[in-house]
Amino acid sequence: MRTVAAAAVAAATLAALSVAPTPAQAAGAVKVTPLGSHEGEFCRQDRALIFEDPDGTRILYDPGRTVAGPADPRLGKLDAVLVSHMHGDHAGDSHLPAPGAGTCEKPDTSTKALPNTSAAAIAHAAGAKIVTGSEMPRFFAGKLKSLGGDPKNSVLVRFGASTKVGGVTVTTVPAAHSNGIAGGMVGGDLGKMLEEAGLTAYAGPPTGYVLTFSNGLVAYLSGDTGVTSEQRTVVGEQYKARLVVMNIGDTFTTGPMEAAYVINELVKPASVIASHANEVGTEGGKVVGKKTLMFQKAAKVPVHIPLSGRTMSFDGAGKCTAGC
Ligand SMILES: [Zn+2]
Repeated sequence: MRTVAAAAVAAATLAALSVAPTPAQAAGAVKVTPLGSHEGEFCRQDRALIFEDPDGTRILYDPGRTVAGPADPRLGKLDAVLVSHMHGDHAGDSHLPAPGAGTCEKPDTSTKALPNTSAAAIAHAAGAKIVTGSEMPRFFAGKLKSLGGDPKNSVLVRFGASTKVGGVTVTTVPAAHSNGIAGGMVGGDLGKMLEEAGLTAYAGPPTGYVLTFSNGLVAYLSGDTGVTSEQRTVVGEQYKARLVVMNIGDTFTTGPMEAAYVINELVKPASVIASHANEVGTEGGKVVGKKTLMFQKAAKVPVHIPLSGRTMSFDGAGKCTAGC
């Protein structure tokens, strides 16, 4: 009898101690897994991230050159591929022959993926949609067709609109960058003519994305961009993004100090994942990159480092709950 009473007291004590989960925790976490060139590191060419909604929807963002094409064993099931703009380090003009090829400073990206792009090849092999804005959907529709796929799997979402992929709402937002399609990606005679003339084909404006997940998390993926007023108005005020993937590499995009300004003054999220640093960001998983360190110091919210293959979990409020 005494043991039964003791057990009842213990159970009551445990119940009193346990904290009720917040609605966001109860709704599950969004998992973010970087697919960089080198396991456990943040390397020069790293851009690709996989977002997994609590409902199982999996979205690949900017495959770039560090995903080893459609056969990369890290990809798993995919529902959509996002491409912020048409530059080769995002759409994937070439890629690793296998994860870990080359060095963190100079990954081996010798496997050619033109004219179809790695993004189109991955989406085709996975039976996933490609979701883009501007003039990119028709271009990707043509690539899917030439790969033997269904052009209808290339889906348009322009600024101010939205589309659903599983439980995830996807929209594009403006980016201040460029978005020319290189001749090699166009292919054929037109591609050759463009290359000879030193010109690119028109693909409309470059984009970032805002993703709203089923646990309430709103994430802003900056793409390559300078500082834009929409980072305050659309991303910050309208969508109230709580997690940001911020490009910090300088020269081509905001550098670390400009990126920190976007985080601290314009978007004001709960946390940020550094991206597109164009440097050896880590050694042995420890941050050593100048730009990455500078950004970590200047940003007023936690800066998470995308170590390849290490999954980070975020609740609906944008707080990292595991893996950071
Ligand atoms: Zn880029």
